[in-house]
Amino acid sequence: MAEVKHILGISGGKDSAALSIYMSEKFPSLDVEYYTSDTGRELDETYALIDRLESKLGKRIFKLDAVDLTNIADGSAFDHFLNMYGGYLPSSTSRWCTKKLKLDPFESYIGDTPTISYVGIRGDEDRDGYISKKQSVQSIFPFRRNIWSEDVNKLVLSNKLKDNFLSKLNKIGGNIQFEAVAKNDISLTFILKQKLNALLDIDTILYNKVVFELLKETDYPVGKLDYFPLVENDENLIREDIFAILENSGVGIPAYYKPMEYHVEINGEIKTGAYSRSRSGCFFCFYQQKIEWVWLFETHHELYLQAMEYEKAGYSWMDSETLEELAKPERIAGIKKEHYLRMNRNNQNKSWQDQIMEAEGEGCASCFI
Ligand code: SF4
Repeated sequence: MAEVKHILGISGGKDSAALSIYMSEKFPSLDVEYYTSDTGRELDETYALIDRLESKLGKRIFKLDAVDLTNIADGSAFDHFLNMYGGYLPSSTSRWCTKKLKLDPFESYIGDTPTISYVGIRGDEDRDGYISKKQSVQSIFPFRRNIWSEDVNKLVLSNKLKDNFLSKLNKIGGNIQFEAVAKNDISLTFILKQKLNALLDIDTILYNKVVFELLKETDYPVGKLDYFPLVENDENLIREDIFAILENSGVGIPAYYKPMEYHVEINGEIKTGAYSRSRSGCFFCFYQQKIEWVWLFETHHELYLQAMEYEKAGYSWMDSETLEELAKPERIAGIKKEHYLRMNRNNQNKSWQDQIMEAEGEGCASCFI
């Protein structure tokens, strides 16, 4: 059997942390390598989470450095590349940081060995996350009922492969209803997503078995295995399950998610709201919301000052204002007021988990999963 690597990237966020625990408990026969891409500018809470995970998993989480840090004065890969870019700060439209600090080191870490990369996209999310361009890497999504990436589903459900799909199904031992759906061509009135969902609704494990057999005739890394235990898995894990995995394992949620109270005056009354950080990644990440910058200012003041230091020569983390402007008391009060009113609109009083989910909507799958 060809050598196939199994890897799982730990971003410091809740989903990848929970996935590592899930994989180690549910599929102990898989020798999964864990890695983290360290920008050198993460929150201490992220490093603490990685330490706790190492104890729980009983395995080292391999630290990928984007550059050789031995000759870099403060040991930060981010600062090294920032110097190379002449102080030009990354942004959502020019995200050189993700490429240089996460994607490039990942690709050189795996080399050309066929690799299965487990990704913590949840069953209640509608996205695929980062898919490597390398043919030798295949992403698998164990938290979703549909564990396969879009390209795999597209291939195995293509009209071109329909006869082969049906022949594998017959070999495995079909199910009349499943076979009836499988016989339908993809068309304008029966699109791929409908066919996929219909088959998964009838029998997810049967679908996985057919896909596994078909992949054996391709170069996909999963097809090189004799046995792939995730084929037998039809679970669909959503947000509550992720928090439960972390709490029940003793690892706990990353500390920066924990809500902290703030006070703000609204129409002469003092109101109490709660803020936290919604994502892992660099403490100065440009994806964070205004209220998260306020959280950084008030709970990690040193880091806020360091983030301010980066704003030089007309570059800033946000288009709309600099961190110096955001730090003014009246501006902070305004941001808290807006946040408080948004969170309590129509007396909704959103839970802190809801707030995290809302805030994490936008961002980078490599840094925050
Ligand atoms: S966390 Fe934000 S700033 Fe850091 S590498 Fe990721 S996208 Fe860039």
